[in-house]
Amino acid sequence: MTKPVVAIVGRPNVGKSTIFNRIVGERVSIVEDIPGVTRDRIYSSAEWLTHDFNIIDTGGIEIGDEPFLEQIRQQAEIAIEEADVIIFMTNGREGVTAADEQVAKILYKTKKPVVLAVNKIDNPDMREMIYDFYALGFGEPWPISGSHGLGLGDLLDECAKHFPQEDENQYGDDVIKFSLIGRPNVGKSSLVNAFLGQERVIVSNIAGTTRDAIDTPYEYDGHEYVIIDTAGMRKKGKVYETTEKYSVLRALRAIERSDVVLVVLNAEEGIQEQDKKIAGYAHEAGKAIVIVVNKWDAIEKDEKTMNVFTQQIREHFLFLDYAPIIFVSANTKQRVHQILPIVQRVSENHAMRIQSSILNEVIEDAVARNPAPTDKGRRLRIYYATQVAIQPPTFVVFVNETELMHFSYERFLENRIRETFDFEGTPIRLITRARA
Ligand code: GDP
Ligand code: GDP
Repeated sequence: MTKPVVAIVGRPNVGKSTIFNRIVGERVSIVEDIPGVTRDRIYSSAEWLTHDFNIIDTGGIEIGDEPFLEQIRQQAEIAIEEADVIIFMTNGREGVTAADEQVAKILYKTKKPVVLAVNKIDNPDMREMIYDFYALGFGEPWPISGSHGLGLGDLLDECAKHFPQEDENQYGDDVIKFSLIGRPNVGKSSLVNAFLGQERVIVSNIAGTTRDAIDTPYEYDGHEYVIIDTAGMRKKGKVYETTEKYSVLRALRAIERSDVVLVVLNAEEGIQEQDKKIAGYAHEAGKAIVIVVNKWDAIEKDEKTMNVFTQQIREHFLFLDYAPIIFVSANTKQRVHQILPIVQRVSENHAMRIQSSILNEVIEDAVARNPAPTDKGRRLRIYYATQVAIQPPTFVVFVNETELMHFSYERFLENRIRETFDFEGTPIRLITRARA
């Protein structure tokens, strides 16, 4: 599902990151516990009433050594490119500044909806301070206070009015959407060219901002695929596109829209922090994952090399123990033909449904082999389990007391489920609920 994207722009210190954090709330990230895998707080999912959306704090995207005005100009351009709705944030206490006018000037160029927020209106007496902001030309200014959490509901209501109509089944249910994610130069574009069977440039010039234009539909062996965000893989000219945070943001958005994510590594360079960060995100987002080690032609190897590499990957990506690994070369096309069949397979696993009766047999059998843990004399009792969702497969386990379900036992149950059913390539989720 494609969630609407809201981007916050504005000069420094108006309160963008304060508002971002308010809207996002405290999100606990599983992968953040893994050393080196911290999430940049510039992009997150969020909810408001019945709306699910993603939000970007463009202020968090530092653009090289560019001068101040150039930075905010580029951040505003990123917002225009990436967002469905833009929140233009200002500071009510300081009034309209020259820098606000600079931001406005860039935002005039977009047809996308811009919602003007005036922050730091900490109490109702200050409301009259917002009137100057009509002069910016974006209609009604919305008074908010990041520190006091005021006005955010109205602001988000206004944003939600402009959310695009759901384009849910843009590609139909049978179409497998996948993306290739990885650091620059690992060979993503070369791999795409290798799939497509010829050395042609897939998308040379990406005009406009429509989502469709950046995807490449593709048919192989009777199955339909769409390669998501092919454009993001190609090097483009703008300065900010070479910044790391922007490329991560772009990758996160591609992951979001994909069913299957191919995490592409470079055999010559081994595994790097950024690889883990992105793979961690794909895992948390519940996507099917395939690890593709490219440039296999470029390294010296003997009969052990593949095992050694596999072991290293398993050590670095502990949370991805379910992901198949394939060693390929875009240059020589070695094993490239195996990639799409694997994508097909993991995507089926990702959407697999298990009958409750069979699932419960497996759980009962698991409990019989390895009795549920006790804590201070109380024993975990599992009454019943059922699959409640696919993509990723999600199971609810009804128990007597949720606190008695420990991580290690959950892991044990997950492993038993994986031994019985073919969930290769897909994360699975277990949710423990107390039965009333
Ligand atoms: P950013 O640079 O636009 O991301 O701004 P920050 O979120 O870092 O905020 C800049 C400063 O303004 C911080 O000291 C915040 O505590 C403060 N601030 C943010 N929102 C409010 C608000 O609603 N009222 C007041 N009085 N201060 C705020
Ligand atoms: P991207 O930035 O991830 O899209 O990477 P590119 O596809 O642009 O490739 C970066 C560089 O790696 C180019 O010079 C490619 O020719 C080279 N490259 C890509 N795949 C392979 C491969 O399988 N083997 C070798 N030896 N080089 C490759």
